[in-house]
Amino acid sequence: MYIDGKWIDSPDRYEIHNPATEELVATLAKGRREHVDQAVAAARSTYEERTWRATPPAERAAVLREATDRLVRRSEELVQTQVRENGAPVRLAEALHIGTSLAHLRYQVYLVERYDFERPSAMLSPVLAAGLVRREPLGVCAAIVPWNFPLVHAGWKVVPALAAGNSVVIKPDERAPLTIVELVRELEAAGLPPGVLNLVTGDGPEVGGRLVEHPDVRKIGFTGSTRVGHDVLRRASGGFRHLTLELGGKSANIVLEDADVTTAVDGALFACMAFSGQICAAGSRLLLPDSLHDTFVDKLLERVGALRISDPLDPLTDLGPLISRANRDHALACVSSAVGQGARIVHGGKVPSGPGFTRGHWMEPTVLTDVTPDMRIAHEEVFGPVLAVMRYHTVEEAVEIANGTEYGLAAGVWSRDNQAALDIAERLETGVVWINDWYALPPHFPLGGCKESGIGRESGEHALDEYTQPKAVSIDLSGGVEAKLYSLLLGTQSP
Ligand code: NAD
Repeated sequence: MYIDGKWIDSPDRYEIHNPATEELVATLAKGRREHVDQAVAAARSTYEERTWRATPPAERAAVLREATDRLVRRSEELVQTQVRENGAPVRLAEALHIGTSLAHLRYQVYLVERYDFERPSAMLSPVLAAGLVRREPLGVCAAIVPWNFPLVHAGWKVVPALAAGNSVVIKPDERAPLTIVELVRELEAAGLPPGVLNLVTGDGPEVGGRLVEHPDVRKIGFTGSTRVGHDVLRRASGGFRHLTLELGGKSANIVLEDADVTTAVDGALFACMAFSGQICAAGSRLLLPDSLHDTFVDKLLERVGALRISDPLDPLTDLGPLISRANRDHALACVSSAVGQGARIVHGGKVPSGPGFTRGHWMEPTVLTDVTPDMRIAHEEVFGPVLAVMRYHTVEEAVEIANGTEYGLAAGVWSRDNQAALDIAERLETGVVWINDWYALPPHFPLGGCKESGIGRESGEHALDEYTQPKAVSIDLSGGVEAKLYSLLLGTQSP
């Protein structure tokens, strides 16, 4: 753990195991409630000392840029760490886990250099005055990050928070903290003053729970499940805090009758099966029109059969293991429940057999057809490689099915008619819509969800707004302010 500029240990430890082999990857300090209190105290006192927040934004950006450059130089090592820690297939880890993360870090630093921390405002009436609106930091920010894309989610929180002059306490997920440890190391090496960024490793309920209820925390950036998101909301309600909650999803991929089927088949597979479905925005529901259903499913089965599930360090691997036995068992249980309610397994549905699969948490990519909106599989997040295929008769019905879950994170539309797709996009209750695409994440796009998928947005060009608050400052330029104000007051009171 890194608290007040020092790397510290704890008498308690926990182990991280490779999800593909179950081998020991690392042993970490298990933080306790008192470590959170120390970390928040360090963050608060550095915030109050004002050293970092009084540093000019260009100098803050320089520290963040140097840390990013250092991470970029270590990207190959970070990829390897990521694969061993959370089982991401190495091609995906290069492109998304580390590649996207570093690209987004660079963009966030670019934004800091251009952000108007002080904005002049118009003359005010009826008092002659000039004004300015300052974007000021919030104070101590808590960042709680999941295991699936640790560096991406950490970067989206830590960089804008630090860029704005806040102090931060970050808590990674207990299963995948290692790339975040490296982020902290590189920020330290780049010259971030002690106490401005603190890292507490440990479990969710104790470390995360204390962090979100701590009275000195002014902003919580949480990414994780909707279940825990509700708990965070409850615990945080002891005081008024800024909140960003990035939660679960059950995203619908709608194929229209005029779609390019070959592209849409691969798009649908990528949307659901990338990283074995362990992505918040996974396109886990596929909505097909009656007219295309059978042809589309046939082509889908051809393609899903070609996916290679094996050692995630092998560049030819398409799918690796799931993060844990518990998650794999949950995914298998979701499949059984769907079958119990009338769905049909047309591919997968089991643990693969063979020499490569005796250890680790494996599951075959699974396709279910005959799924109807009343089934649990049509609503519940699996967070595994399970695609629920549903039929629709009219576009109206497709939109209704797509919006018919408690979640509202992402959706996709496949069509040759951009205007038709845009009309549907407008009616979808989600934070992101991809048209003829999936997982396009340009760094200037805001990301987040509607309904039970969360509140607030991360990333994008407004990321710094989420970690600052406006202060209006007005300067009287007329002189004689008292007389002017009194005359206004008396004017309203005299008959
Ligand atoms: P999780 O909610 O169990 O854990 C997420 C983080 O919260 C971890 O750091 C964990 O230690 C911490 N935590 C656990 N209990 C806590 C508590 N009581 N108080 C405070 N912190 C606590 O999530 P998970 O199952 O590990 O991750 C997968 C979930 O995250 C999925 O639901 C997925 O959709 C969601 N997710 C959402 C996004 C998004 O951007 N919307 C991105 C990635 C993952």
